[in-house]
Amino acid sequence: MVISIDLNVMSVINYAVDHLKVKHVIVCGHYACGGVKAAMQSADLGILNPWLRNIRDVYRIHRNELNAIENEDKRYDRLVELNVQEQCVNLIKTAAVQKAYRERGLKVHGWVFDVHTGKLIDLKIDFENYLKDIREIYHLD
Ligand SMILES: [Zn+2]
Repeated sequence: MVISIDLNVMSVINYAVDHLKVKHVIVCGHYACGGVKAAMQSADLGILNPWLRNIRDVYRIHRNELNAIENEDKRYDRLVELNVQEQCVNLIKTAAVQKAYRERGLKVHGWVFDVHTGKLIDLKIDFENYLKDIREIYHLD
């Protein structure tokens, strides 16, 4: 089963992981994302502010890499990839995902849809490595 997430839908994720017993969770972003661009440009978008803050957090974490990319579109596309990566990490931090990993080997995947070529790109998130890292720090077990 594939569940696509956008905005802030942790309750949907928890339901899918705890009750529907999904084995794969895919976080999928897309290049040339107007939302990501808006997040970096607009001061106040009302109801979208929490989501914008997430994107800005991702920018802050990866500021050095992103600021080094001179082409604006390429910079935003890289931000799309890094946002997918960080949202995967956020999922791996949750107790529900860690429990499902132990019980049935659930995995979190990060993909980006390339609107120009129509291809889905697997970012090959190193799930096991992130999990190991996160468990050392967050200790949800
Ligand atoms: Zn978008």
